[in-house]
Amino acid sequence: MAGSAVVVGAGVGGLATAIGLRRAGWHVTILERRAELERYGTAFGIHPTAQAALDRLGVGDAFRARALPYRDGRIRTPDGKVMARLPLERIERRAGRPELLISRPYLLDALLGALDVPVRYGENVSDAAALVEGPDLVVGADGINSAVRTAAFGTRSGVRQVGTVTWIGIADFETGVYGETWGRGRFFGMTPIEPGRTNWYAAAPEATTAAGLRDRFAGWHEPIPRVLAETDPASWIRYEMRHLFPALPTFVRGGRVALVGDAAHAMTPNLGRGACTAILDAEALTRAIARYGRAGLPSALRAYDTERRRSAQRVAFGSRTLHRLMSTERSRLRDSLVRLIPA
Ligand SMILES: Cc1cc2nc3c(=O)[nH]c(=O)nc-3n(C[C@H](O)[C@H](O)[C@H](O)COP(=O)(O)OP(=O)(O)OC[C@H]3O[C@@H](n4cnc5c(N)ncnc54)[C@H](O)[C@@H]3O)c2cc1C
Repeated sequence: MAGSAVVVGAGVGGLATAIGLRRAGWHVTILERRAELERYGTAFGIHPTAQAALDRLGVGDAFRARALPYRDGRIRTPDGKVMARLPLERIERRAGRPELLISRPYLLDALLGALDVPVRYGENVSDAAALVEGPDLVVGADGINSAVRTAAFGTRSGVRQVGTVTWIGIADFETGVYGETWGRGRFFGMTPIEPGRTNWYAAAPEATTAAGLRDRFAGWHEPIPRVLAETDPASWIRYEMRHLFPALPTFVRGGRVALVGDAAHAMTPNLGRGACTAILDAEALTRAIARYGRAGLPSALRAYDTERRRSAQRVAFGSRTLHRLMSTERSRLRDSLVRLIPA
């Protein structure tokens, strides 16, 4: 007999999990608190390992139809000198396929297109403990402030601010200059996103307002001032950089609850791997469930935890470390080290 699961959250992690569970023949209910999917349009870099997981979930072709290769990004100083290259060539050489960039709404559309059950919108799960009484499995894919995590694991691991705010936006022109520019206590990034547009993000100390952002990057190399001047601050989105701390001792509980994505290991976005790890979690969890079946659910959850926890937490730690480096005030020392990175 097929198992039944409730997936809380319809972000990348929740949708990918629901797809995998459906492919394993499970009954799935997806509860999403929003009235509709949030369609902010930042570009996600999707690493080849996560692309392979999307292939295994049957979403690879739909994903690739809207994705662009990311092959050339450099790390610059605020006056525009190149210090190093992002490791995009190395990623492509090792994996045999490039890192791909996709606008977040397009990735969600690709996932939704592969799903044969509806998302139940407007369902805010406030009592996740009560939820666990019903189905065989509850998957917490409810992001950094996960109610499922709090119900299953308490509040020892919680959301921590890291002292930086990120503003993100899309410019309506192609800058042709991609990568990141690292200054003292702040950095600016630009990536392709789709023809005729550029995805950008700007990180600065937490007190930085939209009105103050242009001043923070005044005098930096072009096209940074142009990008900020020619995008409407009303369209910018503000993120406080946060992560989950301390790391959880397990992603599963009681043979019936599993966490995926930011709910399990929210990380600062510096490595650009949060969505990738959510996809890898979802694929690994549902592959284990397909293998062990409903009767073997506790074994499946253990196998998932063994496969994913350390790996995801290493990425989160790396991202936090990179955040420290990128936002340090001691930029001269950092820049000397960055210049030692082989091209
Ligand atoms: C500026 C920025 C750039 C990034 N760039 C990249 C990148 O290049 N590559 C990459 O891989 N990652 C990137 N990330 C990380 C990525 O955005 C996240 O890690 C990823 O989206 C997490 O997906 P998720 O499904 O786990 O959580 P979320 O996307 O947060 O989804 C959680 C869902 O659960 C819903 N929900 C929450 N609480 C409840 C509740 N109680 N009841 C019901 N529903 C609920 C929410 O409404 C939401 O829809 C970036 C992040 C930021 C901020």
